Amino acid sequence: MSSTTSSNPPVTAAGSASPPATAAAAGSTKAESSSKKKLDRVRNIGVIAHIDAGKTTVSERFLYYSGRIHKIGEVHEGQTQLDWMPEERKRGITITAAATSFLWRNHDIHLIDTPGHVDFTIEVERSLRVLDGAVVVMSAVDGVEPQTETVWHQADKFHVPRVTFINKMDRVGANFESVLADIKKTLDANPIPIQEPIGAEDKFEGVYDLIDQKRVLFTGEEDDAPEVLEPTEDDLAIIGPAREQLIERVADVDDALAELYLAGEAVDAATLRAAIRRVTLANKAVPVLCGAALRNRGIQPLLDAVVDFLPAPTEVPPMVGTHPRTGEPEQRAPDDKAPLCALAFKVVMVDGRKAVYLRIYSGILHAGEDVFNPRLSSTDKSKHPAKEAEKKAAPQGRVEKVARLFSVHAASREKLEQAHAGSIVLAVGLKDTATGDTLCDTKAPILLESIGTYQPVISQAIEANTSADAEKMQAALQKMTEEDPTFHVREDAETGQTLVSGMGELHLEIIRDRLLSEYNVTARSGRPQVVYRETVLGSGEAEHVFERSAEDESLFGKAVVRVTARPRGSGLLVRSETPPPSSDWTPPLIRQYPLAVEAALAGVREAMGAGPQGNRLEDIEAVLISVEPRLDVASDVGWRIAGSRAMVKACEAAGTALLEPIMHLEVLVPDEFVGEVLGDLNQRRAQILDVGMRGNRRSVIAELPLRVLFGYSTAVRSATQGRADFVMTFARYDTWS
Ligand code: GDP
Ligand code: MG
Repeated sequence: MSSTTSSNPPVTAAGSASPPATAAAAGSTKAESSSKKKLDRVRNIGVIAHIDAGKTTVSERFLYYSGRIHKIGEVHEGQTQLDWMPEERKRGITITAAATSFLWRNHDIHLIDTPGHVDFTIEVERSLRVLDGAVVVMSAVDGVEPQTETVWHQADKFHVPRVTFINKMDRVGANFESVLADIKKTLDANPIPIQEPIGAEDKFEGVYDLIDQKRVLFTGEEDDAPEVLEPTEDDLAIIGPAREQLIERVADVDDALAELYLAGEAVDAATLRAAIRRVTLANKAVPVLCGAALRNRGIQPLLDAVVDFLPAPTEVPPMVGTHPRTGEPEQRAPDDKAPLCALAFKVVMVDGRKAVYLRIYSGILHAGEDVFNPRLSSTDKSKHPAKEAEKKAAPQGRVEKVARLFSVHAASREKLEQAHAGSIVLAVGLKDTATGDTLCDTKAPILLESIGTYQPVISQAIEANTSADAEKMQAALQKMTEEDPTFHVREDAETGQTLVSGMGELHLEIIRDRLLSEYNVTARSGRPQVVYRETVLGSGEAEHVFERSAEDESLFGKAVVRVTARPRGSGLLVRSETPPPSSDWTPPLIRQYPLAVEAALAGVREAMGAGPQGNRLEDIEAVLISVEPRLDVASDVGWRIAGSRAMVKACEAAGTALLEPIMHLEVLVPDEFVGEVLGDLNQRRAQILDVGMRGNRRSVIAELPLRVLFGYSTAVRSATQGRADFVMTFARYDTWS
C-alpha cells in the first residue's frame, strides 16, 4: 500500500540520521506499546487553512495513507471520518476540532482538524495553543485567502512552525509560482519550495523532489504508492537550478549551511534536510510542497515533511506557568519523569457524558488517577475573614479523578492505561474541569495561562415548540455551553425568554440544528440581536456603604471606587490603591484588612458583568480607593457588595455610552461587480478602508457595525449573481454614528 517517498533516512531531533524507515512501519496500524515510544517520534500537528482549501480532504488522506482508515470518505458525499458531528457531515464543514492519532514512518502523529469558519475562531486558537506544528493548506488557484491570513497570524502569535501545502494543483488556473509570491507578499513570510510541480491543471502528474533530486509521480489511484524515479537529463536541468536556489535561501537564514555553501562544498540531502528542519523550527522559513489531495497526489511527501520538519514535543521550549499559591514562575520540560502538567483545551459531550481533551506537557497520566486542578475552589466553603487568614497555608484548588483515558480518533476511541508527556488524549470523569484549566500533580502544582475566551456578539431568543420539549431544551443548551465557551445561555429578566448568544448567525443556526438532530427538540428562534456593551465617558468616583444585621448575624462593607475611560479595545483593568493599614488599628483589624480589600476587588470585578444599563462593561480602569475593615461580621460578603455597588455608582457618575460589535469585512468579487458591492456597503454606511486586488479579483475592505450586517450573505449573493466571497471578523466594540 503506502510507502514513503524519501529514500534517505529521516532526521531526528538532534539532526543526526536515524535508522531508515521501512514501508511496513509506515503503513502499520498496530501501535507499538506507547510506553516505549520515544517523545522525539511524536508530532502534535494541526491542519489550518481558509475554508474550502482542502483541510478535511488532506486530513482524510493522512489517515488513509497511514493505514488508520481503510476507505477514503469524501467531503461532498458526507462520508468523512473527521467531520463526525451530523451537522458537519450535512453542511460539509468542520465545526469541532477532532483529534486523531496515526503512525507515519514509525512516528506517532496526533492530528487536530480545525474549522475554517470565522464563527469558530476560538476552536482554531485552542488548537494552536496545544499544537507543536501546523500544515497550512492553500489552494493553488486562490492563493492566500483572507482566512489563511488570520490563521497564519494566529500561528505566528503562538510561534507554531509550519509547512505549507499548495493544494488543488489539478484545477484550472492552478499556479504554484504565484501562490509562492503571494505568501511572500501577503503574509510577509519566507517560503522555501522543496518541490517543483510537474505540470499543472489536468497535466499535473507529480513533483520534483529538490532535496533528494528525484522525479516523483502519482498515478492518482488511491492505492498506488508514489513512483520515485531517477531524474533524466531534462529533469536535472530543472532540478539543478531550483535546488541551488533552495540551498541559497536556507543558507540565508542558517549559519551552518551558509558556511558550507560559501566554501563551495556540495550539500547532500541529509545535510540540507537537517538545515531545513532547523530553520523551520526557528520559524525562519516555511517549506512549501504541492499536490492535489482530492486526486491522491502529493500526500505521502507531505507526511514525510511533517516528520522531517515539524517539531517533536521534546523540541518545544518548556511550558511556563506559575505556582498557584506563590505566583512564582514554574517550568515543565516535556519529560515523562517530570511532575504531571496538562492543559484541558476542550470539553465535549460524548453520548451525553462530559469528556475533556488534554494536552499532556510533562509527566505520565494514569487512568484512575487523582489530579489537581488549581483553579477549582476548595470544598471548604467557609468565608469568614478571620478563618480565611488561618487557612492561608492550606492549598487552594481541588483534586478531580480521571476515571478513564482514551486515545482520540474522531468517533471511535481506544482505551488507554496511561498517557505520556507530549500526547493528546480524551479523559472521562473530570466533573468540574473546564476549557483552559491546568491539571497537575498535587505535590507540584502549576498554573498555565488560560485560553483566551471570546465574548459572544449576537444573541437570539429561543423557544421549544412544545412545552414537553421545554425542559429537554434547557438541559441540551446547558450541555452545549459546557462544550463551547463561546456559546452562552441566559434567561431575560424582563421577558422570561431564554436567550442564547454566540459568535455569529451560523453559530446559533448550528446550535438550533443540533437541538433537533442530537436532542430531538424542535425550537423556533427570534430575530438575532447584537450584543451591546457599555463604557464610561471620562471618569467618576463613588462610595457605597453596606450594612445589615439580622438576628445573630451582621454584615458590613464600605468601599470607594474610581473609574476612568480607557482607549477602545484596551479592555478592563482593575487595581487597588488602598493605603496601608492605619497605625492605630488593632492586630485583628490589620489581619482582616487585606481580606476586606480582596472581597471589595472581587465585587468590582463582578460588577464588570453588568453596568448601569445592564450590559457588560468594556475599556474601563477601575481603582479601589479605600475599604473600611470592621471586626465581628459574619462574612466578607458586605465588602463584596460594597465594591460592586460602588463600581456601578462610579460608572453612573462618569456617564456611560453604548458600544456595539464592529466587524472587519473583506469582500472578494470579480471586477464587473465591484460597483454593486460598494454601493451596497455605502448604503449600510460602512467605512471603506481599501479597494485593491487579491489574485485576479477585486478586494473591498470595510468596517461596519454587525447590526447592519444581518442577512449580508444573501444580499451580496443576489447583488453579484453569486460571484462574491466574503470574510467577516470581529474588530472591536465601539460607538458608531
Ligand atoms: P476544508 O473546508 O478546508 O476542510 O476543505 P474540504 O476538504 O472540505 O474541501 C473543499 C472542497 O474542495 C471539496 O469539495 C473537495 O472535494 C475539494 N477539493 C479538495 N482538495 C482538492 C483538490 O486537490 N483538487 C480539487 N479539484 N478539489 C479539491
Ligand atoms: Mg473541513
